[in-house]
Amino acid sequence: MTVRVEATADGRFATNSYLVIDDDTNDAVIIDANFEPRLVLDRVRDAHANVKAILLTHTDVDHIAGLQVLLEELGAIPVAVHDAEREVLVEGVPLRREFPSAIKPVGNVSGLREGQPYVAGSLSFDVLHTPGHSPGGVSLRIGTNVFTGDALFAGAIGRSDFQNSDGRALIQGIRTKLLSLPDETAVYSGHGPATTIGKERRENPFLV
Ligand SMILES: [Zn+2]
Repeated sequence: MTVRVEATADGRFATNSYLVIDDDTNDAVIIDANFEPRLVLDRVRDAHANVKAILLTHTDVDHIAGLQVLLEELGAIPVAVHDAEREVLVEGVPLRREFPSAIKPVGNVSGLREGQPYVAGSLSFDVLHTPGHSPGGVSLRIGTNVFTGDALFAGAIGRSDFQNSDGRALIQGIRTKLLSLPDETAVYSGHGPATTIGKERRENPFLV
């Protein structure tokens, strides 16, 4: 398995949607669905990628806004989310009291559970529950890459000032499940540039 990561960011919130491809098979997943899904769809087309699933690090609106377009273009592939935020997709319940926007319910929803690898074609992701920004926040690890959603950013951590946030759980999850990964692990965040676990362990002002 030779994993390649392509990042696209929307212009509104700079939310990243990632295309993760196994170069040996062209099997792929999309991680998060930002406001400009055409950007990642262009990468899918250029790479001749066979997208097997859409994985969500969490369900804030800027990470799921592009779902309907992705599903229209890619067919009814599974959309995987942690059980704690499943109803946002299945029932269209807003994640936040503070942001009462909802999406059209999604039909083919599968679960992301810690300790249970998520397999999509030739790709297999370890699921790390990293809540605190939101209850069902997950980080997804494959090889020497980890996708951290809005838990860990380059030089920052996620917001935890929402009604359903938990700042202590956020820090604890980052410390125990992310900073314990090897230094050279590449970190792909929900917003902003990539970094590494080693750099964040040494320099992140919220964690040192
Ligand atoms: Zn976000």
